[in-house]
Amino acid sequence: NVRVRFAPSPTGYIHLGGLRTALYNFLFAKANNGQFILRIEDTDQKRLVPGAANQLEMDLDWMGLSPDESPMKNGTFGPYTQSERLCLYNQFVVELIKSGHAYHCFCSERRLEFVKKEAIREGAIPRYDNRCRQLSSSQVEEKKQHGMTSCIRFKLSSLEEPLQDLVYGDVDRNAVLHEGDPVIMKQDGYPTYHLANVIDDHLMGITHVLRGTEWLVSTAKHVLLYKAFGWHPPRFAHLPLITNADGTKLSKRQDDIRLDYFRSQGFYPEAIIGLLCLVGGGFSSSIDIQQNLHSLPELAKSFNLGCVTTHSGRLDMTRLDNFNRLALQNRISQPEKMDEMRKQLSHLVYENIPNSSIDKEMLQDASLLKVLHWASSEGRIHLLRQLTDPHMGFLWSSQRNPIISKIDPSTARNVIVRVVEILNQYDRIEKKEVSAMLRQIALEHNLKVNEVMKLMRSSLTGLKEGPPVSEIIEILGPKICSCRLVSSLN
Ligand code: GLU
Repeated sequence: NVRVRFAPSPTGYIHLGGLRTALYNFLFAKANNGQFILRIEDTDQKRLVPGAANQLEMDLDWMGLSPDESPMKNGTFGPYTQSERLCLYNQFVVELIKSGHAYHCFCSERRLEFVKKEAIREGAIPRYDNRCRQLSSSQVEEKKQHGMTSCIRFKLSSLEEPLQDLVYGDVDRNAVLHEGDPVIMKQDGYPTYHLANVIDDHLMGITHVLRGTEWLVSTAKHVLLYKAFGWHPPRFAHLPLITNADGTKLSKRQDDIRLDYFRSQGFYPEAIIGLLCLVGGGFSSSIDIQQNLHSLPELAKSFNLGCVTTHSGRLDMTRLDNFNRLALQNRISQPEKMDEMRKQLSHLVYENIPNSSIDKEMLQDASLLKVLHWASSEGRIHLLRQLTDPHMGFLWSSQRNPIISKIDPSTARNVIVRVVEILNQYDRIEKKEVSAMLRQIALEHNLKVNEVMKLMRSSLTGLKEGPPVSEIIEILGPKICSCRLVSSLN
């Protein structure tokens, strides 16, 4: 039974890098009828951001990547937050010390700094020199009695068997020996990442570890810990790095890669997932991830660890825009999404258009649907919010527009009155009918069609440019148009 986990540290808001790790774990679990677990790794108390852990889980839910077991959902292997498992780690550390795999280290910060500097001076790699490995148990007792505080370090050794990564293949298993013995429990009694991560993966029955490639170098250390405990390690699969479009590293401090940024802009989860699927591979060629969006079950069906690439992938945000355009089109064709879209759009309209001038009728289902179809089918927008941008404001705002036209004022008034007369005969009107009507009226008044169009545009929208007048009239409908035209006469 496949069990995988996403194990973020709640040090901030989730961004595209973390989200990709979560997505691939989720897909791998679903592809194998397994479980996807969320574990919060909060042992570095200094770096915690209050509220981030809960937010992380809600974000996963919003993305459709709900874990089967988690701090909020719980499960048989809980608790799923490391700070609630401290006793456990303690027991295991005692065991490691007893079996001779770990030891107390009393070295002060100052000494550690000194040792590193010395190493640099000698042209060696700066690292801890493992001095406290040599302490006998009576020396340890003595130091403790003197009130000296210690941390616990793990004795590194060489790994005999090859280290196989499911993505990167054969990995250098001895690189770890260049490092000093790692701290596995800090002076404050909190475990470090390596220890807690290994213990929890084991106790939670994790079969596959899928995580970012930055952890590849730690894997040998982890396998050594598994061996020290006498446990069987899980399989490891590291996921290639994601970079910005210009190849620079994604940074936690970068706001425009945070999920909440995309969400507040109005990007949909399926579009974000579409974007993430483009970097790093992992999908068999039976599915077209380049041009189309797919449901999570569809993606899971064609997910294959063997297809994950080892080279880093660049994020191309123009693809996100295109995917969101598709997502918007898909949603418009689903009646059950209408309610949500109406709410979002009303919210945007009330936020961006002066309250007194809002044409409330435009917010009713029939009108909204017309607007949405028009805007998305022509690819005019990729975000709902663009419908309230200044050049689209005319859709919602009935503010009075003065007549601006080269036509002489009295003729212009006659034209408008005539258009109103005709519009009043209709409940709805199509753009072809509008064009025919305006051509006819131009002829009647001996005007150029173009001039009549311009007059209509400015009276209805207050704009000099924009979508074709026939489309504007079709979308706004005869009733709203005649009201606006009448008010432009006053
Ligand atoms: N807590 C680690 C992180 O923040 C987890 C790494 C792993 O998946 O082992 O990425």
